[in-house]
Amino acid sequence: MEGLALYALLLIAICTGWLLGRSGSRSIKFPPRQTRDIFQEYFAGLNYLLNDEPDEAIDTFIKALEVNGETVETHLALGALLRRRGKVDKAIKVHQAVLARSGLEASLADAARLQLAKDYISGGLLDRAERLLKELAQGKPEGKWEALPLLVSIYQLEKEWHRAITCTKELLSHSAYRRSSEWNARMVHYHCEIAEELLVEGQLGEARQQLRRGGGFQRHHLRASLLTARLEHESGDCNGAIRECRRIAEHSPAFLTQVVDVMAASYSELGREGELIKFLDGFLDKQANPVALQLISRLIAETEGADRAIQYVRRHLAAQPSFAAVAKLLEFEVETNQFDPAMISDIEKIREVLLAHLAKQLGFQCGYCGYEARQLYWLCPGCHRWDSIQPKLEKGR
Ligand SMILES: [Zn+2]
Repeated sequence: MEGLALYALLLIAICTGWLLGRSGSRSIKFPPRQTRDIFQEYFAGLNYLLNDEPDEAIDTFIKALEVNGETVETHLALGALLRRRGKVDKAIKVHQAVLARSGLEASLADAARLQLAKDYISGGLLDRAERLLKELAQGKPEGKWEALPLLVSIYQLEKEWHRAITCTKELLSHSAYRRSSEWNARMVHYHCEIAEELLVEGQLGEARQQLRRGGGFQRHHLRASLLTARLEHESGDCNGAIRECRRIAEHSPAFLTQVVDVMAASYSELGREGELIKFLDGFLDKQANPVALQLISRLIAETEGADRAIQYVRRHLAAQPSFAAVAKLLEFEVETNQFDPAMISDIEKIREVLLAHLAKQLGFQCGYCGYEARQLYWLCPGCHRWDSIQPKLEKGR
């Protein structure tokens, strides 16, 4: 379809150029010698097209631009089409040729700059794109609102979170973006990215400040909640960490796995393992979760003995059959029974097969493009959307 559009655009541009050239020759705008050259170029371009050599046709076409400024918009469309077809070098050539025209109308020059910046982004020339977009963002309003989202996408690629925040804040001052949940969620992510780095460096106060700022754009965002739970625990506020973990379990149960370690450590530090067992029991009634099952069975074995843990897993298996429960039961059976070595070896093999199967079923997947990952990404590496990746827990039962 795009191939057809490219041919159509080239043909339109060439025919327009030819007609303009003809009228130009009538009004004696060009010296006869130059007019003959233009015709030759257009016919050469047409010839290349007919011989299915679009690259040569494009080169000829760009050459002809110098005398036919009236076809600028067609050129901009052609350049955008070339970029989408992956011919970034050609697109850059077309847009640079447009910009090089003397006396180009200001709005068309801005449109060409924007297209050229998009070419540079596609070609990975981010510095050049940034320079162009900054110029546009400081210019007329129309150019500014088109340039800012692209500038943000560059800072996002470069992980320049502070700059991404500054630009997004400016964007959110526009009525078209102010209520956009997508752009507000982006602000939360940018603050979370900084908070995550600060947490690793142990700068807890600054991390808390970043999370608070992010919360101003969207309250109780899942990522911010997960980080808050971790932050509270590291700050020594186990009750605060537990409160945040329970909120996550209630509103986003599939993500409890991400903080189950924080939850276990917080309850343990307060000496309230019994409460945690009760909470996990209730949680597992509603939601399958191999990690929570692993934790509760370990806690029961530690506090009430292996036999009680086996009873618990058996009961759980009867109510909610799952690979995770079978694997856990086999593990306890081997630990607590005097099987002969050959039988133990068989059970271990069965357990390994189950765990390998479970590992494949777990992991994460993008609900938009289907990208699969072993770890949680907030920004999908496949389709570059925020918050589109979810745990595949349900399938892991
Ligand atoms: Zn995706």
